[in-house]
Amino acid sequence: MPYSVVIGLEVHAQLSTKTKMFCGCRVEFGAEPNTLVCPVCLGFPGTLPAPNAQAVESAISLGLACGADIQPRPMWTRKNYFYPDLPKGYQITQQGGSPIYDKPICTGGHLDIDLEDGTRKRIGLTRIHMEEDAGKLIHDLTVADSLFDANRCGTPLLEIVSEPDLRTPREAYLYLEKLKQILEYLEISDANMERGNLRCDANISLRKDENAPFGERIELKNMNSFHNIEKALHAEIESQTAILDAGGTVKRETKRWDVAKGETKANRSKEDAQDYRYFPEPDLVRLSVTPEDIQRVGASLPELPEARRKRYVEQYGVPAYDADVLTREKAVSEFYEVACRDCSDKKAVSNWVMGDVLRVLKEGNLSISDLKFTAAHVGELVNLIQSGAISGKIAKTVFEHMLAGEGAPADIVREKNLSVISDSGAVEGFIRQVLDANPDKVAEFRGGKDKLLGFFVGQVMKVSQGKAAPDQVNALLPKMLAG
Ligand code: ADP
Ligand code: MG
Ligand code: ZN
Repeated sequence: MPYSVVIGLEVHAQLSTKTKMFCGCRVEFGAEPNTLVCPVCLGFPGTLPAPNAQAVESAISLGLACGADIQPRPMWTRKNYFYPDLPKGYQITQQGGSPIYDKPICTGGHLDIDLEDGTRKRIGLTRIHMEEDAGKLIHDLTVADSLFDANRCGTPLLEIVSEPDLRTPREAYLYLEKLKQILEYLEISDANMERGNLRCDANISLRKDENAPFGERIELKNMNSFHNIEKALHAEIESQTAILDAGGTVKRETKRWDVAKGETKANRSKEDAQDYRYFPEPDLVRLSVTPEDIQRVGASLPELPEARRKRYVEQYGVPAYDADVLTREKAVSEFYEVACRDCSDKKAVSNWVMGDVLRVLKEGNLSISDLKFTAAHVGELVNLIQSGAISGKIAKTVFEHMLAGEGAPADIVREKNLSVISDSGAVEGFIRQVLDANPDKVAEFRGGKDKLLGFFVGQVMKVSQGKAAPDQVNALLPKMLAG
């Protein structure tokens, strides 16, 4: 029996600040374990934390980008729990477990997702709050022991909590993509799931229909890609459907997604707020966020995807579809803009970026910075076609050489001798060669088989290796064929 699905996501985004949330230790991925630590992030008694201003500004900028309310007096609390990756025994957070202590930096706001049927859906945000990360346990390097790396202790995180507004695993996927895109545009997080700097817990429940009260939810953890989250949610819908169909009830618990088995597995029963013994962080006063602070951060926000899409349609005159594809990744859109700088045909540049460039990135699983040619080279290539210096077909060959890192297209054309040949004597030579090689086809043509003209054009382009100027071929070929 089909049920109505309710999903809410909690996303942790690690901020790409230079230093940690409450101390001066560097934030760096992949550094020698346990080298980026100090008494503050290890929680030695008597040390004092001091908030990282850049992290606070990052939180404000994400809040503004999502239309959230920025709170004037966010509060820091202690969330106490024991775990081997947490030497301090507590995390400083802005989660309070009760309305008195629960004063996150941002409340409300929304993300708009574009559904596949072309409609747009608004997903509410409950809150965005700041907290510090725990360290990392590594279980699979040695057989007997688990290893501990404290470098991540105290790394600044934003937790972005959605309202239970998502209705399908696909919507959850699109929401995550949208959030990642905004984080990337704001340049406040690398938002890379594989590196663990974007992590997501998915809450999901079923109910009889859209109007029924929410059912009990399961929280899914440990998923390392958007696709896995979508899959895990589907698996969990199946598992909850089976329970409800059998007349049972879903128990609130935390589960994890087993990638290999393709199923969700019970982890532990959920802690209550009281288990964490939240209390106001005694070493930190409440933050003070003034209207001037908000205005200053707001004024420095970069152009966001939505605005950029609109600008591409208006300024470059490309179709909305192109604008959407080109702005999906900030680096790609920046590449497109540089390619357009000295090239008047913005649509042709768009075709090259959306087509050949993105295909190469996808096939090679590369990012745009891995390419061996520059954005300006793409603009130059389009200019060469536009000016008639090379044909569209030859341009594909030039592009292959650009991919191999052989330099600017104009140089490649010169070095590889790929220019269009418009000298009439040379074109005549190509045509003569073709006519001599195909005496019977020539006879057929002269006997009235006009359709063969296309064959001859093709042959001339072939013997000229695509370089014969089409207008010359069109002018000379019929004359020479006629004899
Ligand atoms: P907790 O820390 O207990 O998980 P949070 O408030 O941090 O609570 O997160 C709750 C998340 O669960 C939110 O994203 C919210 O939208 C979602 N949620 C709440 N109730 C339900 C429900 N019945 N079904 C699905 N998701 C839910
Ligand atoms: Mg939770
Ligand atoms: Zn430190």
